[in-house]
Amino acid sequence: MTPPLVVGNWKMNGGTETSVELARELVRGLSKPRASAQVALAPPYTALWPVNKVIRKSRIKLAAQNCHWQESGAFTGEISPSMLAEIGCEFVIVGHSERRHIFCESDDMIARKLPAVIRHGMRPILCVGETIEERQSGQTSVVITRQLDSALKGVSEGDIEKVEIAYEPVWAIGTGLNATAEQIRETHERIRNLLVDRFGAAKGEQTRILYGGSVKPDNAGMIAHIDTVNGLLVGGASLTAESFLTIVRSFSQSDRVL
Ligand code: PEP
Repeated sequence: MTPPLVVGNWKMNGGTETSVELARELVRGLSKPRASAQVALAPPYTALWPVNKVIRKSRIKLAAQNCHWQESGAFTGEISPSMLAEIGCEFVIVGHSERRHIFCESDDMIARKLPAVIRHGMRPILCVGETIEERQSGQTSVVITRQLDSALKGVSEGDIEKVEIAYEPVWAIGTGLNATAEQIRETHERIRNLLVDRFGAAKGEQTRILYGGSVKPDNAGMIAHIDTVNGLLVGGASLTAESFLTIVRSFSQSDRVL
């Protein structure tokens, strides 16, 4: 049975020392009582190795915030999946809206990253989500379908169980706005149906669908209890141990599994 997954995306915040200290606090906080959710941390690249030294004997997993799809070569400033796997990453966030919108990552680039991450034994966390203009013009479903169809085209039926999906409405990321329970339920159902159509019920029902977008301690419980939510991707509120631990524990009460 697959537990819910809660991922802390630290983005470009914190130096090595603050990252290590935060990781230590989280290891302590999660040692007992045992929360039901699986937890992963995505620190900045420079902190991946030192954070891994802190978490490797705990139940917390290491995640990267992005990667390139090539093994090696003349790609200044990029990092390859094999480099991330070598230092202990188990998850890689792919297609985050900040990558799509600030760094102009296309659906095609994102589609190349998924098989590369899987090939190196890691699990991609594929982010999809609509902008406010797309939602207001009734395009949410079209956009999500396009992003999923494109990103998953290189993922085989046998590999879909290695993929996590995160629904992150762009208008909810870092804004303090978060989607209503109805909007989350509806979009997660749409994603689930797409997965089942494409990969069949047995596989499509197993993929975790996380929600992300201004998840905070005071709304995490409500979101965690939506029956179509299988985890959370947390940005700002993952930067302090107290708020992130409260969010992780919001799954302990529901104790829900797929
Ligand atoms: C994110 O970075 O994926 C995110 C959801 O950020 P925040 O929680 O700050 O909105």
